[in-house]
Amino acid sequence: MTALLYVLVAITAVSLATDAFLADRDDPARQAFLVLSLSIAVSYVSFALSLLPGLEGFRSLYLLAGCAAAPAGLWTIERAFEQHAPAPTPGVRAVYVGTAVIAPVAALMHLLVYDDHLGPLRWPGIFAGAFATYAFGIALNRLWVAQEAASLRIDRTRMRYLFFVLLTAVVFTALEGLGRQLGPDLEPQVMSLSSRGVALQGALPPFSTVFTGLGVYFLYHSVVMSRLLDLAELFSRITTILLSAMVLVLIDLLTFMWVDTFTRYPFHSTFQIFIASLLFLAAYDPLRERMARFANRLFDRRSAQLISAMEQLRPRLATIIDTNRLVDELLTTLHSSGRVPVCSVYLWSDQLDAFRCGDSRGHGEQPPLAVVAEHPFTDRFGRGAPWYLRNSVRRRALHDAEQGEVLALMEAMNADLTLPLTRGRTVLGWIHLRDEDWSEGYSAEEILLLQEIAATASVVLANILGFQAIEERKRLAALGAMSAGLAHEIRNPLAGVKGAAQFLQSEDLGAEAKEMLQVVVDETDRLNIVVTQFLDYARPFELTLLPLQINQVVSQSLLLLRAQGLPQSIELVEDLADDLPDVLMDRTRMSQVVLNLLQNALQAMPEGGTLTVRTQLRDAGRDEPMVEVHVRDTGPGIDPEIHDQLFIPFFTTKQDGTGLGLPICRRIVEAHQGELEVLSGRGEGSTFVVKLTTASQRTHD
Ligand code: ADP
Repeated sequence: MTALLYVLVAITAVSLATDAFLADRDDPARQAFLVLSLSIAVSYVSFALSLLPGLEGFRSLYLLAGCAAAPAGLWTIERAFEQHAPAPTPGVRAVYVGTAVIAPVAALMHLLVYDDHLGPLRWPGIFAGAFATYAFGIALNRLWVAQEAASLRIDRTRMRYLFFVLLTAVVFTALEGLGRQLGPDLEPQVMSLSSRGVALQGALPPFSTVFTGLGVYFLYHSVVMSRLLDLAELFSRITTILLSAMVLVLIDLLTFMWVDTFTRYPFHSTFQIFIASLLFLAAYDPLRERMARFANRLFDRRSAQLISAMEQLRPRLATIIDTNRLVDELLTTLHSSGRVPVCSVYLWSDQLDAFRCGDSRGHGEQPPLAVVAEHPFTDRFGRGAPWYLRNSVRRRALHDAEQGEVLALMEAMNADLTLPLTRGRTVLGWIHLRDEDWSEGYSAEEILLLQEIAATASVVLANILGFQAIEERKRLAALGAMSAGLAHEIRNPLAGVKGAAQFLQSEDLGAEAKEMLQVVVDETDRLNIVVTQFLDYARPFELTLLPLQINQVVSQSLLLLRAQGLPQSIELVEDLADDLPDVLMDRTRMSQVVLNLLQNALQAMPEGGTLTVRTQLRDAGRDEPMVEVHVRDTGPGIDPEIHDQLFIPFFTTKQDGTGLGLPICRRIVEAHQGELEVLSGRGEGSTFVVKLTTASQRTHD
């Protein structure tokens, strides 16, 4: 039983620390906490093993890992409460250096002089124990100093709980160790397994394990949530567990009443245990929630209010199909729970190209912020950060510049706790809550609850946006059909106007009138080109897809280009790769794309230059190889400022341009499930790249 307790605490410590570490490997506090938990676990497991016959030698490992736990504890405290702690003292350095020297020496000596009968040669153990107690004392002192430096009363109180729990763990560990070292000589070889464990534990039962387990649990909360558990929260959790245990006992009692003796009817009894367990499991889930609510109400009324408000909110959220109502419901419920006097919701605004405050409660107008998708604040949410707590962000900002930027933004937005609203990796917005100035701060449980609500709100928001996007697409499709019709209506009278003007040109008119008529003819031609291209862009088109070689299409476009006349000053370089796989494409449409890119390239080099056309297979060895066509010129390149506008219809920098060439090209390439990209910088020439998936992949799809 004694050994089991040590192993249980070891397992708990390691699982808590691994959980914390895996959630954020870069956080120094979590790294330190992992090292601490591992050293506690190693020392506890080796102590448990040393209680077994023949494995007494594990006591040396216990000494080594136990000594190492002290600096690891110190390190964890320094990292977890860094913002409060003053600069390191010589005592702190003595712990790190002392452990590195003393722990291995003591463990080695213990191993060398170890006496099977646990006789008088105990000084290495006493020495190591005394040093570890001193080192833990320094760590505790640091915690006390940090506690005094904490600015919030609630932080101080919570750190004091941690201090007293850890102090009790250290005192009991020292007393139990002392009891073992100073106790009478034992003859464990002649004892039974169970009495051997008790005797070797020493005069005192292993109280220290209970307090160490509790201390690790408290530390876990302060490392992960940057919050220590409230006493109220702790009591309500313990009450929930105790109530659950009582229900289990009750069900067991009820079941076993019908069985006289276990040994006489083993099958019956096993069956009863099975039924009792089933009953308990079936009843447990709904019961547990009720018990937790009861315990919460008993110890922490304010948090219970928040919980019940959130429970009422959840079903209401599911019925909302409007962003404004969603924001309103969220804020009103949070605010009226009495637990969140100040809160706001920020959402992405397409018009502003920034996240802006949708609404707020409890404070004045929030400024719209130019927080773009590239900022670490949104990036980290996109990568899965569950929330930002100003305190913990401040702690990490000491080591991490990214966190510094997050902190600056939180401060600008007046937020203590920020919960993201995300869809996959896309950040849709966030909820801000003010916390510490006015209240005791949120407990760990409340933060988890708020996070759950933010997750539900994210799903609702994503659905609303998806719904709006479908509506928008329908509207655009209708608009597309209408404008295609409109273009037809323009083209017919246009032909009439041009015909009439040409007819008049043949009449006997003055030179000036003829010139005017030529303007009418030229302009109608131009208008006709624009309308024809626009029709091309707006009209839905059908592709006739066949497996073809891209080189054939490129050669066809080059032929057409040559037919239109290639200036002498242009050097044409063809660099077409052999053995390219077939691509499923519409020959006419794709050659229209390549020709357009070639013409643009020529127009970019009025003074002459080199026009290079390349085809190649990209990522040949990979699962998804792409066939690429590169069209490169040595013209002036494209200004980074207009990069984003190239594919917007009617964007042109040419006097007689329509600004529809590239949008049409992109539309055709995307209809082939490919991509059209541009690589260019000012003065570097431009390269347009068409990327297409190979025919074999498309048929797999
Ligand atoms: P248009 O050629 O009628 O202007 P496009 O949609 O084909 O319409 O091109 C839009 C704009 O993109 C052009 O006006 C030009 O500013 C820019 N552009 C396109 N290709 C190139 C290129 N090869 N080099 C530099 N700028 C280019």
